[in-house]
Amino acid sequence: MMRCDRCLKPAVTFIRYNGSHLCSEHFIDYYEKRVKKEIKKQVGKLPQEGVVAVAVSGGKDSLVAMKILADLLRPRRKVKLHAITIDEGIEGYRPKSIGLAARYAKWWGVDHHVVSFKESVGCSLDEIVRTKDEDVSECGYCGVLRRMLMNSKARELGAAMIATGHNLDDVSQSILMNFVSGDIEKLSRLGPHTDVKEGLIPRIMPLRTVTEKENVIYALLNGIELHEQECPYTVNAHRQEFRSIVETLESRTPGTRHSIVKSYDVLKPLLLEKYGGTKINRCERCGEPTSAKVCKSCLLVDKLKRK
Ligand code: SF4
Ligand SMILES: [Zn+2]
Ligand SMILES: [Zn+2]
Repeated sequence: MMRCDRCLKPAVTFIRYNGSHLCSEHFIDYYEKRVKKEIKKQVGKLPQEGVVAVAVSGGKDSLVAMKILADLLRPRRKVKLHAITIDEGIEGYRPKSIGLAARYAKWWGVDHHVVSFKESVGCSLDEIVRTKDEDVSECGYCGVLRRMLMNSKARELGAAMIATGHNLDDVSQSILMNFVSGDIEKLSRLGPHTDVKEGLIPRIMPLRTVTEKENVIYALLNGIELHEQECPYTVNAHRQEFRSIVETLESRTPGTRHSIVKSYDVLKPLLLEKYGGTKINRCERCGEPTSAKVCKSCLLVDKLKRK
């Protein structure tokens, strides 16, 4: 049996990228220290008053993000944490995770809001998939509409920031994906956001330096139920390819995910210097922030209406 490097109790995990074995207590300590350090790096101190929003899909990462923020903000009586779940309308998949989001929000004393595609834009993702053009993927529709609804709900709640559950694996995949597709302007806009643009609620990513595996272990050690099922549209996701590329690189050279994110952090100020000045307008139709006249969500909804 492997023993913890710090106290010799049985180890619950081996962290390959730094060669350490940790017991449950020391793993939780190691994990939470890194998350707090990352929050400090991204926002300095969390607010002493006002509203913070957390995007909660009901998957393990977002549940862990909600737990960590609820714990950190609980002593701050003037800060209100709100969880926002977007219900895209994916039958057989989303209802279970919404149930988990609602259950844990109640448990940790967080106000929970569900915003549905159907009520907000008139059709569920399942309906969109049945009628959409081939040139925009399921995730293309889902991502644009979800970001818009999340931003608009967080703004309505008066949130100073939206925390998301993105982990090191997600972030390193996103960086590579944008780099490979040559979308450098989009690369410059990846969170966490340090600049505040009118109407756009900045995103923070407390779990950005912890791995997906570490999130699973942290969730299990804290009794959080895992929603194992994958979105039925995941098979079509371009991201899957990058997931396997990053996993291969990481298995050959442990620490690769950290290196990708570190390199991005060095480049980001340069990217912001070049692209950060993009003027933000209000969409002529819906009033949401956009760099064009009409926002992407309105253009996508138009496309569907023409069907
Ligand atoms: S896999 Fe695609 S369709 Fe499914 S929830 Fe994620 S972004 Fe939406
Ligand atoms: Zn220990
Ligand atoms: Zn719009």
